[in-house]
Amino acid sequence: MNAKCILIVEDEQPIREMVMFALANAGYAVREAADAWQAQLCIAERLPDLVLLDWMLPGISGIDYARRLKKDDLSREVPIIMLTARAEEEDTVQGLESGADDYMTKPFSPRELVARIRAVLRRGGPAGEEEMLRANGLAIDLCSHRVSAGDTLLEMAPTEYRLLEFFMGHPERVYSRGQLLDRVWGSNVYVEERTVDVHIRRLRKVLEPHGHDPLIQTVRGTGYRFSTRI
Ligand code: CA
Repeated sequence: MNAKCILIVEDEQPIREMVMFALANAGYAVREAADAWQAQLCIAERLPDLVLLDWMLPGISGIDYARRLKKDDLSREVPIIMLTARAEEEDTVQGLESGADDYMTKPFSPRELVARIRAVLRRGGPAGEEEMLRANGLAIDLCSHRVSAGDTLLEMAPTEYRLLEFFMGHPERVYSRGQLLDRVWGSNVYVEERTVDVHIRRLRKVLEPHGHDPLIQTVRGTGYRFSTRI
């Protein structure tokens, strides 16, 4: 089983380091960001399983960033635990209203943090469920990001992987290039629509030797569709 990925967004380096150390020890893969801007780059690269979000951040506050994450299709489902020095009840309410799933007041012990993370991840659904996507002998392991065709592991670049993961999770539906950009690249990233065509071509090339390229179908005048019906 591959490690769950936690993103810590915290501008105070000592706290970030303490949290990273504790979570790595607990078996999590950890990524760090000092502000919302860095966090957004991390998320565009790989969607974390959970975000630990400091309330007081330079630039965009933790609260505003939590709202933004919950509004974005890409990150809507990712649970958030707010980290804060404030303990007033009113602030807690405001934090939870912003879409945070839980709330921790500093200072907290690493053990308490790990317990809270486990609880929030459990709430997100039974572990081990829906960790594989399959279609016609093509399979994606959502934990390890491994793609296989029969017994063969397929090598692909991160963007092709995300594209395939999105398609396999949303089969039999047509998506325009703009929709694919929003859902796969993220709505805050500016990329030209023809970039989608380039990555579709690359993805088909990886699938072709195994006969799976017809799963990625061009819908003339509209966009693309993943379908097992050919
Ligand atoms: Ca802070």
